[in-house]
Amino acid sequence: MKIYFNGKLIDREKAYVSVFDHGLLYGDGVFEGIRAYDGLVFRLNEHIDRLYRSADAIELKIPLTKKEMQDAIVDTLKANKLRDGYIRPIVTRGVGDLGLDPRKCPKPTVCIIAHNITLYPKEMYSNGLAIITAKTRRNYTQALDPRIKSLNYLNNVLAKIDAIKAGTEEAIMLTHDGYVAECTGDNIFIVKNGELATPPVDIGALEGITRDAVIGLAKNLKIRFSEKRMKMEDVYGADEVFLTGTAAEIIPVVVVDKKKIDGGKPGPVTAKLTAAFRELTRSDGVKYEV
Ligand code: PMP
Repeated sequence: MKIYFNGKLIDREKAYVSVFDHGLLYGDGVFEGIRAYDGLVFRLNEHIDRLYRSADAIELKIPLTKKEMQDAIVDTLKANKLRDGYIRPIVTRGVGDLGLDPRKCPKPTVCIIAHNITLYPKEMYSNGLAIITAKTRRNYTQALDPRIKSLNYLNNVLAKIDAIKAGTEEAIMLTHDGYVAECTGDNIFIVKNGELATPPVDIGALEGITRDAVIGLAKNLKIRFSEKRMKMEDVYGADEVFLTGTAAEIIPVVVVDKKKIDGGKPGPVTAKLTAAFRELTRSDGVKYEV
């Protein structure tokens, strides 16, 4: 396996960062998760834009132009002969000393991993997922805005541990004041009386690229949609619930906090959007040859 590492494609066995890298010491850096489907990178420009927005938000200057980043991502896919895959670009503050000061890190570390990812067992896509409400609240936007896709994912990891302890794979994270924000690695949608809704990202959620794609598909399919602040009661009372994310794609949720959603089976709006999403990912993207 080849890893892009500071401008070179090197063997996985040689791809190590320094213990003085502030990505390791402080989670000081940003990352993306991107998918390629049959030789098409899905929404590559949107992912690169978000990576650079996240870097800007933490005052980290990525030492590549967006075009160079795009080429590096495609080169990494090609070097690994992957027509289908999951790509993880990472930019850290770089090597510094043991203090926090980012000025001590002259050169950001840039890595790109192209591999595979399977978040949930296949049967969960047909039967649906059981999830819980995490006791860990989502980061307060004025402390660490969840719109920044930073390497500091401990907030999400703690909520994931809540999920695992409850015997589930995912957890809903609430804002500090009790509104539904998102899950540990996915956005959340509900369907009620044929209308699709998801929380607005400014309450404290990542602006998911799959989320945006699903909103676009809903428009094309003439499914009514709105961004809505919601409480857990809205989730419990929904006709359908599903999660979206690059790694997860679209996954139905059938049980929340041990309560069955509607009949406890994935619903028709979820199925319609899933089929449309599948078609979109196989027809729209940045094309490359391996
Ligand atoms: N929320 C969080 C916290 C995430 O980490 C992710 C990405 N894994 C998402 C939502 C979904 O975003 P996207 O659709 O861009 O992958």
